Amino acid sequence: MTVLNKRIQTIKGSATLLLKEKAEKLQVEGQKIFNLGPGEPDIDTPEHIKEAAIKAMRDGKTKYLSVAGLPAFRDAIATKLRTENNLNVQSDNVIVTNGGKQALFESFDVLLEPGDEVIIPAPYWVSYPEMTKLASGVPVIIPSNPENKYRLTPDILKKYISKRSRILVLNSPSNPSGASYSRKEMEALAEVVLEHKLFVVSDEVYEKIVYDGYEPTSFGSLSKEIEAQTITINALSKTYSMTGWRVGYACGPKDVISAMVRHQGQTTSNACSIAQYAGLAAVTGDHTFLVKLLENYKRRRDISVEAVSRMKGCTLVEKPEGAFFLFIRIDALKGKKWSGGDLSGSSDIAAMLLDQSGVALLPGVEFGDDGAIRITYALGDNELKSALEAMVEAFGAI
Ligand code: PLP
Repeated sequence: MTVLNKRIQTIKGSATLLLKEKAEKLQVEGQKIFNLGPGEPDIDTPEHIKEAAIKAMRDGKTKYLSVAGLPAFRDAIATKLRTENNLNVQSDNVIVTNGGKQALFESFDVLLEPGDEVIIPAPYWVSYPEMTKLASGVPVIIPSNPENKYRLTPDILKKYISKRSRILVLNSPSNPSGASYSRKEMEALAEVVLEHKLFVVSDEVYEKIVYDGYEPTSFGSLSKEIEAQTITINALSKTYSMTGWRVGYACGPKDVISAMVRHQGQTTSNACSIAQYAGLAAVTGDHTFLVKLLENYKRRRDISVEAVSRMKGCTLVEKPEGAFFLFIRIDALKGKKWSGGDLSGSSDIAAMLLDQSGVALLPGVEFGDDGAIRITYALGDNELKSALEAMVEAFGAI
């Protein structure tokens, strides 16, 4: 048998991707499955973005690009970050990557010495701890805080800082909880960040998927000092329904970005040229499609929140103002039984729901909180309603 190194042996497969494969397999076998698992928009990429890709192919834009990205695209991203996010950046503060994922991993890999700690507040997006380990760092998980609607507070953060702390990960709006920080809440955290010279990796991939007038703040925009200690991560995946195109970016201090360019130059080279031309059209083009998109997500969020109020034993800490997930608390159901056995945690609840209602979703334990389950409401109204009613029924039968 091949002997793999110790580092890779500690890395889990992505729970989201594994669930996607499992649900697809059950569907192929003929079972009716409601897939509330994936973290991706259900709608297609807008037409003008696809057209730009087709034109790029026809024009022969099919060759290597500079590693850091198509110059016009980097410029457009820098302009967006200056005007929309109040960041003081030029194009050499920006690197275009293969999705937000590569931007995150490169950030960890260029900043961490072996054994450095990355502080990750739960519930967290599944990949942060695994990426930290891949980059020879140590994930330090701050337990989930439903009492404070999943927001990290300065007092709690201070308790998890050690001599080895190097990075704090912030993700607002959050996957999985939808929790969205106010500027004031961020400013309070910024004081601790400055005092302890932490780097902040601010994952803002859901910045445009927001409701009820919530206005996102880029952590790096809080002050000049904070900007010098922040890497802003974003991607086209969620805003433009471009998950499969693999276009993301990072923005930060020039020395960090240039290290990421060296890293990427020796690993994947540039992100796909055609996808970058499409990305340029996305960032500089018409954004009116977002109005309808947000109207749809908001309606589906409200449908889901109402349905959860009818699910026996289930609660929400708030109606989230961002992203397209609900993180449903199931603490009250622990210790109950169903015909398949005990419900001792979120994995049992997820297994029960798949068996009893054909609903595929992710257990909270994958996000560092075993007292919850995560659903996405990014799917068509009718399918969503049927899935939610199936859940209401399954919970009612416990
Ligand atoms: N960050 C968060 C919070 C996410 O939910 C995701 C995708 O699900 C990503 C980053 C990665 O995005 P991408 O698909 O662009 O790599």
